[in-house]
Amino acid sequence: MEIRILGCYGNQLPGYKTTGFVINKAIALDAGSLTSSLDLDEQLMLDAVLLTHSHIDHIKDLGFLGDNIIGRKGNPVSIIGERRTLKAVADHYFNNSLWPDFTQIPTKENPVYVYREIENKKEFELFGLTFLPVQVPHPVFTFSYFIRDHKSTLLHVSDTGETEEVWALADKEPNLKAIFLETSFPNEMKGLAQASKHLTPEMMAEELKKMKKRDYKIDVYIYHMKPIYEDKLKEEIARIEVEGFEIKVMQQGDVIRYV
Ligand SMILES: [Zn+2]
Ligand SMILES: [Zn+2]
Repeated sequence: MEIRILGCYGNQLPGYKTTGFVINKAIALDAGSLTSSLDLDEQLMLDAVLLTHSHIDHIKDLGFLGDNIIGRKGNPVSIIGERRTLKAVADHYFNNSLWPDFTQIPTKENPVYVYREIENKKEFELFGLTFLPVQVPHPVFTFSYFIRDHKSTLLHVSDTGETEEVWALADKEPNLKAIFLETSFPNEMKGLAQASKHLTPEMMAEELKKMKKRDYKIDVYIYHMKPIYEDKLKEEIARIEVEGFEIKVMQQGDVIRYV
């Protein structure tokens, strides 16, 4: 499995892009930085965009991607997400008011996008990978994803507050190699983190400790830092050690491979 990190921040500033990854060149995981990172050929290689939730830092480039690829691809691109996530995109973005309804153009028979609904804890296959979506707490409906190939599993926890179920399932995942985990605000802002269902470095450490498995090193990539707090967050994250985990800050532009 190859995961290219296009953007991994919880907000934008020059040099800091919002969340977007590409898996095996064909699957986008969230759409916060697709069109600001991928060239047109790379954008045309995408056949699916898998969404964690409807917050704008995770969906905004869907509009620009649609505009770039319209009439240039033989097949529609699937936008995949939970019913409420897709409804938010359809009602509030592709509503012919903010932006065109790309599920109807250039023709109804062969549009730019088709919506594909997925359900909590129902596994599905996509281009040789298996995905298990598991809900995590956040102000809107949000999925984490266990992403598996025949050798490795990546757990992308997505934006989340304090949670339980995903860690119980992670404990049972035999080939878990890496976890993408959010950390948005510094420790002194725990109140805001809890109110907005995000994590601080100390809360992030408490989440990892909910996993009981300690028999091998799992790579933990911290993402979704708010850029204005980056220095403080990096200091606080560097002080954290949790047995069984190799905690590192995710780097924009990196390509992560598990073979
Ligand atoms: Zn976010
Ligand atoms: Zn969010």
